[in-house]
Amino acid sequence: SLLGEPQKGLVISRFGQHADIENDQGELLRCDLRRTVSSIVAGDRVIWRANLTESGNHGVIEAVEERNSVLTRPDFYDGVKSVAANIDQIIVLSSILPELSFQIIDRYLVAIEQMGAEPIIVINKSDLIDEFERLKIDGQLDYYREIGYQVHWLSVKQKQGTTQLAELLKGKTSILVGQSGVGKSSLVNQLLPDAEILIGDVSDVSGLGMHTTTVARLYHLASGGDLIDSPGIREFALWHLAPEVIFDGFIEFEQYRHECKFRDCKHLNDPGCALKAAVQAGKIKAERLENYHKILESVASDKPAHKIDI
Ligand code: GDP
Ligand code: ZN
Repeated sequence: SLLGEPQKGLVISRFGQHADIENDQGELLRCDLRRTVSSIVAGDRVIWRANLTESGNHGVIEAVEERNSVLTRPDFYDGVKSVAANIDQIIVLSSILPELSFQIIDRYLVAIEQMGAEPIIVINKSDLIDEFERLKIDGQLDYYREIGYQVHWLSVKQKQGTTQLAELLKGKTSILVGQSGVGKSSLVNQLLPDAEILIGDVSDVSGLGMHTTTVARLYHLASGGDLIDSPGIREFALWHLAPEVIFDGFIEFEQYRHECKFRDCKHLNDPGCALKAAVQAGKIKAERLENYHKILESVASDKPAHKIDI
């Protein structure tokens, strides 16, 4: 078929052998994919050409630009599968009830560090505690601020902290992750009041029987910035983490990397361990070293990585 000049586009969502892209004029166009770009996902920046014969889809995607970051998940057939691309930052949503778990926060931080995106720690449901309790928890969160993370309080219910959060999302492509019940749907509904989200619209025959999946989609936020979202993305956990990257995920450990007496130091009860010494000197929070070992144990066990329930 007759094709127009190559143009730039942004992938809004990908399904099967098609993708919806947005052109420079902000129009949404359904395109076919060349076989060479079959792995594109929401967030990818692509080169496409309009279909001038006006039959079938609007165009063909011919090339994909190099990604800054990619979120992947284990796939039964492909090993790993891309889910979203060019994510700048990841909102790690936690809530103080039923309980605030620093171990879970640490697990997310490790996984995000490996992806090359910026994590933002957000604690929701601040309305459920009094000021005294909030200050106590905030003192624990100070450690994360000191080592370089952004930390924010939020009450989706009372719309407190939402303006500041919207400010952080401006000019960036973000995703939102967190355990069940922390308030992810509530927050997305507040950020995207007009979007028809959570509509599972693609059925695929996996050989394990029919099951519905939901497609990741890029949304433009009214206050600026983009959010890529799908139920699958929200559940992003410690997918296929290699033991070697866990140390890197504890960013404040880096300066002690070569300081232990023994090169193969396990940072447990090894003599001359610099990390242990740093804990004793109050430079590293003891719970962080404990969580390092817990996460290492959980990925070293021979469970498939995607079965790890965090
Ligand atoms: P998700 O599983 O992470 O998507 O969580 P939901 O958005 O479904 O929220 C779980 C429950 O927490 C719901 O009953 C919400 O109404 C409630 N919730 C969400 N945000 C807040 C909040 O800021 N304060 C309070 N008190 N409850 C909230
Ligand atoms: Zn050590």
